[in-house]
Amino acid sequence: MRQKVEFYTWAERIASELKKRKVKKHVVHGMWTPSGYFHLGNSRTEIFTPAIAAEALKDAGLKTEFNLFFDDFDDFDKIPAGVKVDKKKFERHLGLPLREVPSPSPKYKNWAEYFERQIVEVVDKFGVKPNFVSSYDSYKHGKYDKAIKIVLEKAEEVSNIWEEVAGKRPKGIPIMAICEKCGRGLTTLSTEYDGTFLHYSCDQESKGIMGCGYSGKIKPEKGNAKLHWRLHWPATWMIFGTTFESGGKDHFTPGGSADTGKAFAEKIFGIQPPLLVGTDFLNVDGKKMAGSVGNVISMADWLEFAEPELLRFMYVTSPPRKVINFDLTTNKFFLLADKYDKAERIYFGKLTERDKQENEKRLEQLKRQYKISQINLPKKMPVQLSYSYAVVIAQTRDVGNKKEVLSVLKSLGYEKIDAASEKRIFNRVKLAKAWIDKYAPETVKIKVVEKVSAEVKKSLSKGQKTAIKDLIEILKKKLDGDKLQYGIYEISKKHNIQPKEFFELLYGIILNKHQGPRLGPFIIAIGIEKVKKLLSQI
Ligand SMILES: [Zn+2]
Repeated sequence: MRQKVEFYTWAERIASELKKRKVKKHVVHGMWTPSGYFHLGNSRTEIFTPAIAAEALKDAGLKTEFNLFFDDFDDFDKIPAGVKVDKKKFERHLGLPLREVPSPSPKYKNWAEYFERQIVEVVDKFGVKPNFVSSYDSYKHGKYDKAIKIVLEKAEEVSNIWEEVAGKRPKGIPIMAICEKCGRGLTTLSTEYDGTFLHYSCDQESKGIMGCGYSGKIKPEKGNAKLHWRLHWPATWMIFGTTFESGGKDHFTPGGSADTGKAFAEKIFGIQPPLLVGTDFLNVDGKKMAGSVGNVISMADWLEFAEPELLRFMYVTSPPRKVINFDLTTNKFFLLADKYDKAERIYFGKLTERDKQENEKRLEQLKRQYKISQINLPKKMPVQLSYSYAVVIAQTRDVGNKKEVLSVLKSLGYEKIDAASEKRIFNRVKLAKAWIDKYAPETVKIKVVEKVSAEVKKSLSKGQKTAIKDLIEILKKKLDGDKLQYGIYEISKKHNIQPKEFFELLYGIILNKHQGPRLGPFIIAIGIEKVKKLLSQI
């Protein structure tokens, strides 16, 4: 019996799980502390996992909203490596909320906003439109007052759960008063709550930051006090009605903040915790992305070398709990683009012989993955240009000249290219050019020679020279890339030359190298006239 397929994508599985909850509206959260650069790895956890889940929920007919939470009330606890600021000048702000720290650049209002721009300014280009929520504003507007009150009333129970689940008891009352004198929360110890006022002393040391020594009392409301992260997280679920959230996998260690969060949600705030998913890392070229290593790629960087749909596709095709190993500086990068193009063909029912070998389930899966990856779903199958071939065109043609770029496609046999496809092709060649300039390995870099090297000329035998004359003849026939490839192969056989040897020889003539891209299509990319001229120099 054929096994029934339940889910084709991880997002559909999540949607089906959430469908069981009887809620009026699903609220999907991503949460990020704007303390430093937002890289592509963060985008997986905080933006795309929730955004894709939200789309699956909407597809399942459920009312859904997606909030991207900026934890800008968090403490400025260090100057991250790679952020170029005057250390002395900024050190005096350590311990303040990120929103109250000056911006590294005068163009932005504060530290938090400076880093948030890396999301706010580009996220819609990826087809994602979250509601941005600021924790700083939420506290200041009293949104967390109720949660703080609950924690104060159940302080003993909160501390007990904390100790039980995390193995450590918080010091004093588990609410952080914001010191009226120095504005810091992480250096205060709350000692007593009298029903109206929270008494505190600012005399603690945290992360190397010292309290100012002041003692006082505040009304724990409207941002005068805040919750520790372990309580802030479940309190947020209660306040916003969160039903799904993706978080970095470091929160999901035993006794970590996901465990305490769930316990506080149920026992203190009296809510069902959201469905939580710990999202794994995105490794680039075998390394975890980290600001200090310098391999940080932002969402804006991505748009320089690849289409936004490709990033969505990468995330759609990898379940959140699986690490993604992404190769950017090797030609393995082409595999992602090839897989995407294949999914597109399958979606539009234009399968190649090889595509047809896939089983039905896999075909259906690729179809759906393609659809979810779209920002504007094309109405019909676009003319495709593979990324690897775009890389060849980008190195042999003027990428700024649309006519010239498209003439290559015409030589490949595409008679009619619609306007949307033209735009896509031209854009991909430009992206490929940017990739070559910034990331490509030497092995894919090519430069067509102007003059055949004397060494190559001298090395040719009489038989080889005759074979080349034959090649000049078939170049006149205006064959497409595949037929030309086959033609070259036939010529070598006719002249009793090993095909490998003949191809190497031709790469030597054209590139002064032993190898290169697939020769037939490559000659078309360079331009038949240009190749004929080179061959005539023999
Ligand atoms: Zn203080």
